[in-house]
Amino acid sequence: PAQGEVVLDVQSIRKTFGGLVAVNDISFQTRAGQVVGLIGPNGAGKSTTFNLVTGVLSLSGGNVRFRGEAIGGLSSRAIAERGVSRTFQHVKMVPGMTVLENVALGAHLRGGKGAMAAMLHADRAEERQLLREAERQLRRVGMGDYLHELAGNLAMGQQRLLEIARALCADPALLLLDEPAAGLRHKEKQALADVLRTLRNEGMSILLVEHDMDLVMDICDHIVVMEFGTHLMEGTPAEVQESPKVRAAYLGT
Ligand code: ADP
Ligand code: MG
Repeated sequence: PAQGEVVLDVQSIRKTFGGLVAVNDISFQTRAGQVVGLIGPNGAGKSTTFNLVTGVLSLSGGNVRFRGEAIGGLSSRAIAERGVSRTFQHVKMVPGMTVLENVALGAHLRGGKGAMAAMLHADRAEERQLLREAERQLRRVGMGDYLHELAGNLAMGQQRLLEIARALCADPALLLLDEPAAGLRHKEKQALADVLRTLRNEGMSILLVEHDMDLVMDICDHIVVMEFGTHLMEGTPAEVQESPKVRAAYLGT
């Protein structure tokens, strides 16, 4: 997508669990070359919103458009294949495999095959292609020096970069990150921020759920604030920080 083009268009989405309204009439957009933060207190509905966008949960109402196409109701696999990638809050990797192998294992979506099937049934040429792509994405996130390290030996910040490299292998237009800075040291957060800025500048659209307010205010172009399932406000980092509503609801100042 061209820089500035709307990539994700969330339209009045709603999710109920029994009598509980977890997400109530939420709308926002993300654009190519933009980092959008999704913040709010615990229980605000951020993870549910994430799961609705990625098709992990079905919508109770509203719709989601990705690059103009309505994707509400599609399977999570179909949504991923269209170019929506995500990382999970808890890192999923095989500690006894190398960094490169771990990422190659996830580099399956383009061909539409399951990861394991791709690695097990891939002929030599396909396997080389998967490894080349994995290496390219690892270099892109600054992990070029760790290709042959065992994933189990990585520091937490490096594990998070591995996850991002794996998500990038599907060639997404939209990257959803679930608390990528949780548990990271200051230096690791800075490295993460640099990677996200680089991806953004290359035209990636990024949706970030993150509790670390310094990181959010530092790298987000736009922030959506949720509270009790509703849309509290949205704006630039400065507007959000100055908002009395947000302060009262969330920042606690
Ligand atoms: P956040 O990620 O902002 O902390 P969540 O989206 O996880 O918030 O949760 C929003 C609300 O929905 C919470 O009240 C939570 O308890 C509820 N909730 C989330 N998932 C489920 C579920 N699968 N079943 C029932 N209630 C849920
Ligand atoms: Mg959550």
